[in-house]
Amino acid sequence: MNGACAWITHRDCRLHEMGEGHPECPERLDAISDYLVSTGLMNLLIPYEAPAATPEQLGRAHAMLYVRELMASAPREGYLQLDPDTSMNPHSLSAALHAAGAAVLATDLVLGGEVQRAFCAVRPPGHHASREAAMGFCLFNNVAVGIRHALDFHGLQRVALADFDVHHGNGSEDILAGDERVLMVSTFQRDLYPFLGNVPLGLNMENVALERGTGGAELRRAFEDSWRPRLEAFRPQLLFISAGFDAHRADEMGGLRWVEDDAAGAEAPEFAPGSLADGLSIRAARFGFSFSNASSITARSVASDFFHVTSSSRASASVINPAMSWQV
Ligand SMILES: [Zn+2]
Repeated sequence: MNGACAWITHRDCRLHEMGEGHPECPERLDAISDYLVSTGLMNLLIPYEAPAATPEQLGRAHAMLYVRELMASAPREGYLQLDPDTSMNPHSLSAALHAAGAAVLATDLVLGGEVQRAFCAVRPPGHHASREAAMGFCLFNNVAVGIRHALDFHGLQRVALADFDVHHGNGSEDILAGDERVLMVSTFQRDLYPFLGNVPLGLNMENVALERGTGGAELRRAFEDSWRPRLEAFRPQLLFISAGFDAHRADEMGGLRWVEDDAAGAEAPEFAPGSLADGLSIRAARFGFSFSNASSITARSVASDFFHVTSSSRASASVINPAMSWQV
């Protein structure tokens, strides 16, 4: 393993948008890339262009009927409304195909030994997309497509998914529940959209519902008491991290009160053992919604925990030392 980290994205991910004022907007990608460029961290990443996922790859996580319907329904102009929060513009299908394809490429790169970690900077996000439906800003479930590629194409036997976000990753649970080759651990705010997750759908699900107002201490206790034992017992060969930063206290979508260090702690070596998955991990980020303030707080939190550096740190070779930074 060489400690290298891939940065995977596609230009069409910026062209997908769902109307004036929609919180899931192209600037979310800019916030993180601007931060990484301004700090010099981007120079440490190996850039890749995401390929489009194939119907066969998508069909490992989604019903083929849904895949075909979505591919056939992309609008030539204007918007096609898929659910109250989710729509497609003429670029959305391409963005969604490349977002899912990023997870496939990340899996190939990590399992092929070309990089140790990969970061998928893509949108639309994926964790609300279920086997048969778009939902909550999500079209295809990017991380589930990557996980099934690791299992069904590469033949891995144990893959873990860590999902933390203010919202429950109901789509990922819908697709992966009952698949004993997968362990999904998640935290989310109880009784918030999508109002699911209180009762896990399978034995391979470790759902930790947090009360409104929960901060870092309770969060770390949840990780320690619930996530860690399950992950250590499962011994994943590969770890996917599906990270949303809308649990940040500056984010108005939810009522959790994380700060940057809490998110970093969720992925710190002392939480998840450095030996976990032999340090192999793939991260499909879902950014928070508070990026628009001048401090780009979401970008900072993503970058800080991504590299295990604080916002005052500067790029150095050590930030991609696998002993320091096993995630992404
Ligand atoms: Zn969310």
